[in-house]
Amino acid sequence: MYYFDNASTTKVLKPAADAALKCMTENYGNPSSLHKMGVKAEEVLNSSRKLISNVFNCKDEEIIFTSCATESTNIAILGAANSKKRTGNKIVTTTIEHAATAQCINHLENKGFEIIKISPKNGKYYAEDIVNAIDDNTILISVIHVNNENGLILPIEEIAKQAKNKNPNILIHVDAVQSFCKIPINMNKVPVDLASVSGHKINTPKGIGALFMRKGVKIQRHSFGGLQENNIRPGTEALPSIAAFGVAAKINFENMNKSIEHYKLLKKHLLKRIKNNSEILLNSSDDCAPYIVNMSIKGIRSEIMLHFLEEKGFCVSSGSACSKSKKSGVLQNMGYSKKREDWAIRISFSTENTTNQIDMLIEAIESGQKSIIKTY
Ligand code: PLP
Repeated sequence: MYYFDNASTTKVLKPAADAALKCMTENYGNPSSLHKMGVKAEEVLNSSRKLISNVFNCKDEEIIFTSCATESTNIAILGAANSKKRTGNKIVTTTIEHAATAQCINHLENKGFEIIKISPKNGKYYAEDIVNAIDDNTILISVIHVNNENGLILPIEEIAKQAKNKNPNILIHVDAVQSFCKIPINMNKVPVDLASVSGHKINTPKGIGALFMRKGVKIQRHSFGGLQENNIRPGTEALPSIAAFGVAAKINFENMNKSIEHYKLLKKHLLKRIKNNSEILLNSSDDCAPYIVNMSIKGIRSEIMLHFLEEKGFCVSSGSACSKSKKSGVLQNMGYSKKREDWAIRISFSTENTTNQIDMLIEAIESGQKSIIKTY
């Protein structure tokens, strides 16, 4: 199979898998134990935390390991809202959030918080539009950095700086899942308070995530137990996955610039290949990250094209993996028609993909366009 679904999940890197195996079969102590095995495990925990904090240029103690980004986002958004509810009840977010954020926000709306969802303008987000929506009653902003369906990059640095200028008490949460190790956020310079990341998007086994929580930020915790992970996320740490996460973050971060160049080359090649195909509509603009390309193939429902391509040996996605075949509505919120969303497929790259594979993928799509009966 040729795998073009890396925004859904990724192949585990061999050194990351090796690090996990070592923690399962040799260095299997509990980091909280006082004996030698525990101390060794704690060393792995600390060094992995350092490798993650390096990517954000933040303090090690600002990284909290979780089970996935969805958990990080739940801890961040619910914890921030509950800790701040006495000072205000307004939350500002966007109409193109991943379900992890969108569902937390819906939950808070049902609990009586006032939610302002900002739509894009001409397919873009401007910091001013988010910042204009905040006032003294606003307690939280939650924005996605790189959208998982079309790769749109939001100006989080500007949003955070301008928002803090206007109201320094606001907490800012960023869903950095699709940008982590690809488009860095320097937490020394960007006044974000909370950021969610996930291991399995960067070549780590599934079931590990992290939350950046700036030192001094107070959120209400919703899990109770031991003292692990700053008392925010109690429970014995998943050391094998944490070790893998650290190794994968290091490798991806070190190779980031080279990888981005590779993605740009792949995207350019793909766009060139589809340029003259008037039945393919591009849903990812130049402002989007080069590793996610979303396009609609006129008259062919995503699922039909997806399974046709699968038969030919290609894995692509029909949108967000989390919503299965149910459309998330993100593309419609970007201003595209329902039909265009129904016809959308997402192609997301890894550094293992080649221009040759793209040629084969486009040929397969073109043969689908010839043989599949279209419904407009
Ligand atoms: N946010 C974004 C932008 C994502 O793409 C995903 C996963 O698809 C998530 C959050 C949730 O991540 P996890 O699977 O680690 O819970």
